[in-house]
Amino acid sequence: MSELLLEGRAVGKRFGKTLDFSEKLAKKLGATVAEPVVHAVDGVTIGIEKGEVVGLVGESGCGKSTLGRILAGLINASSGEVLFRDEDMASMDTKRTRAARLAVQMIFQNPFASLNPRMRVEDIIGEAPAAQGVVTRRERHDYVTELMRKVGLDPDYRDRYPHQFSGGQRQRIGIARALAVKPELIICDESVAALDVSIQAQILNLFMDLRDELQLAYLFISHDLGVVEHISDRVVIMYLGRVVESGPTEELFANPNHPYTRGLLAEVPRLSNRTRAFATVKGELPSPLNPPAGCHFHPRCPHAMPICRTERPQYKQVVPSHGSACHLNDQ
Ligand code: SF4
Repeated sequence: MSELLLEGRAVGKRFGKTLDFSEKLAKKLGATVAEPVVHAVDGVTIGIEKGEVVGLVGESGCGKSTLGRILAGLINASSGEVLFRDEDMASMDTKRTRAARLAVQMIFQNPFASLNPRMRVEDIIGEAPAAQGVVTRRERHDYVTELMRKVGLDPDYRDRYPHQFSGGQRQRIGIARALAVKPELIICDESVAALDVSIQAQILNLFMDLRDELQLAYLFISHDLGVVEHISDRVVIMYLGRVVESGPTEELFANPNHPYTRGLLAEVPRLSNRTRAFATVKGELPSPLNPPAGCHFHPRCPHAMPICRTERPQYKQVVPSHGSACHLNDQ
């Protein structure tokens, strides 16, 4: 029986864009200048079950990182709900909120930027579990040793600083730091994108080993379908703030429904032989400041119909557990 761990229901996030100098001046002089709003995430519903690996895919700027940060509790949604084990996080008491925050950890693309350069590895990994009562101060030393070994780092390097490690080792430090508070779900935001291909494979293997050992779930955010296909149980495809398709990995790769997904899959580079990230869909991603009406994908879609320019397509199941948002499914 599946167990839903984290769920976003109709999650939306709007950012106001500040006016530039000329816009401010024009406004001062009496012109009507609307303050632009970016709908970074627009009514996204997504769930991650215990022990499940969900790949969240889309081009840069499609809102996937913003969605990840909302689900990790790092920023608030403008609309919708985030539920941890069926409980709305907005209405939890302080103790439950703290437990939910610890249960969902996030690992970022650039481990160097996310590690405090003035802290030793011992403190980077051991500070939060000691502060949160996961271990006592006395247990901390052995706990850090165990975590460093678990992620493939030599515990003798515990007194070193982040700059004394390679990119792959720094990512391992970030993983150990996330594991230290005993999470149930890790949100990985482009966590291997900055690494060499051979190091990427090692870190992906580490993620999968940890999943088996600790029954971890992952939300794996990536622009790289080759990586996502390799590790995910289920894939969610985003386009300009909306989910356009999702389904079990094998089913979605074998029978992609949405024209955007089909474009992406036309040339998926494999981990073994890839030379570039996928980007084969013709045309540019439109600005989220002024997204096309109706189906956001219509300016780039080879199957666009008049209705696509005016009506937002509803997300529907095409086969059980595989859904897509495209007017072609209405016919
Ligand atoms: Fe293409 Fe229309 Fe489907 Fe959008 S709704 S993907 S424009 S066919």
